Amino acid sequence: PRDSELPFNITADHLLDGLLTSDFSHKSCRSRYEFAAYHKKSLQHKPSPYLIAKLRKQEALQKRCGPGTAAYKNAVRRLDAGDRGAVSDDDTCRYLVYISYRGLGNRMLAIASSFLYAVLTDRVLLVDGGKDAGELFCEPFPGTTWLLPRAGGWFSSSPLSRLRGYLGGAKESLGNVLQSGGAVTVSADGNLTWSVAPPPYLYLHLAGGYEFHDKLFFCGAQQRLLGEVPWLFMWTDNYLVPGLFLTPPFAGELDAMFPEKDAVFHHLGRYLFHPTNAVWHAVTRYYHSNLAAGRRRVVGVQIRVFQKKQPPQVVLDQVLSCVSAEKLLPETITGNGSTSSSHAAVLVTSLSPWYGERIREEYGGKSIAGGVHQPSHEGRQRWRDAAHDMRALSEMWLLSMCDALVTSGYSTFGYVAGGLAGLRPWVMPSAPMWADDWREGLDPNDPPCWRAASVEPCFHSPSAYDCAAGKDVELDKVRPYIRRCVDVKCGIKLV
Ligand code: GDP
Repeated sequence: PRDSELPFNITADHLLDGLLTSDFSHKSCRSRYEFAAYHKKSLQHKPSPYLIAKLRKQEALQKRCGPGTAAYKNAVRRLDAGDRGAVSDDDTCRYLVYISYRGLGNRMLAIASSFLYAVLTDRVLLVDGGKDAGELFCEPFPGTTWLLPRAGGWFSSSPLSRLRGYLGGAKESLGNVLQSGGAVTVSADGNLTWSVAPPPYLYLHLAGGYEFHDKLFFCGAQQRLLGEVPWLFMWTDNYLVPGLFLTPPFAGELDAMFPEKDAVFHHLGRYLFHPTNAVWHAVTRYYHSNLAAGRRRVVGVQIRVFQKKQPPQVVLDQVLSCVSAEKLLPETITGNGSTSSSHAAVLVTSLSPWYGERIREEYGGKSIAGGVHQPSHEGRQRWRDAAHDMRALSEMWLLSMCDALVTSGYSTFGYVAGGLAGLRPWVMPSAPMWADDWREGLDPNDPPCWRAASVEPCFHSPSAYDCAAGKDVELDKVRPYIRRCVDVKCGIKLV
């Protein structure tokens, strides 16, 4: 499909079976309506009518309460004034602010999680997406913005101004409020209520290494308390969704919204994230020039090395053995008895140029007719750099257009690509960056890669605490649709 200036007739296919609203023009955000043309229907699950109804309801809420509305101004005024007291009347809006933190993949998983939490709790989602959020993604909700206004006075005086560098120590975090005593009263039957009145805002600290009291976020009683707080600020880099499925008050709603549990991110990601025209143009141009020719099978290889000390050769060997052991490249025997893949191309994404070059050498130039392509090699991860983030985003989308994926364990960059594509990737074990030795956690007897159990991202640091039982449980034993991740042993995912 080439960009066309012809009038665009929107069909159910363009709207991803009702997931997307047709309230945006094609030109304003081409990727929104062109997703289907570039992606195979790898995962057959359609969004449920209930999910679609919830999305339309959320869009109306975002519009009614979003920045610029009277309701928003009123809520900001109350926040700035430190007004306590329940928000009782129906017109009052409650907000969830996602605080930008970490790389793009982490941010996208965290935003998808925040969005789902906002839907479940009837809150407006506002994204403090960092400086470049507007350059990366189109607005997902019609007639309003999801970006937290940064100018306009209140930003400098509000709690948000203190969020820079925030690492969970704030006394207004859920964990600290629960521990400090006094603020919350516990009744004989274990119910929690605010002793005086709910605070105007609270921080939710849900990043890796969070403490016991912060983890009580995943409990019913604490959720009821949070429901009365007008502003919540969420600090997370994680895909919290499996944890929401384990939170008692949400289980029923989630069950109705997602009859197929392995498609949550596939739906939410395709609903929320639409690259802006500038990014989309780069994606489609690269796709047509390098990958699309001759209807080739494209194998995407995402290489992310967390451990600086890990020898690159080890990672390269892992990639090559995985591709060959899993027969990912179709092979044909040529006249002289050697093999070639005439119907394949390989897309490599990595921060280092070394991998693309070696893989190209390894496959001997001509034996893969479609070639080995690496769109960029940024050298290192950069912060607050729009051009860098735009390349990262393009590559996630290019990976998601592949026919098969090999990804690096632990990497949220790879999770996003697989989730959008609806493809279960082959995941290569990799040691986390905090390991003392690059071999730590890696078993030499492990295969070069495992097939992921589902297209869902892994929740790296779930809470094992069962609030009703009052003790830790084996998280992979409590629901048939929750399992351990192949790449992160303490992580869980929906299957
Ligand atoms: P994770 O750290 O692998 O979980 O993924 P994140 O996306 O959260 O953070 C990694 C960041 O490093 C990305 O957002 C990019 O900024 C950069 N990066 C890592 N791998 C690549 C790659 O293959 N291509 C590009 N363009 N950037 C990458």
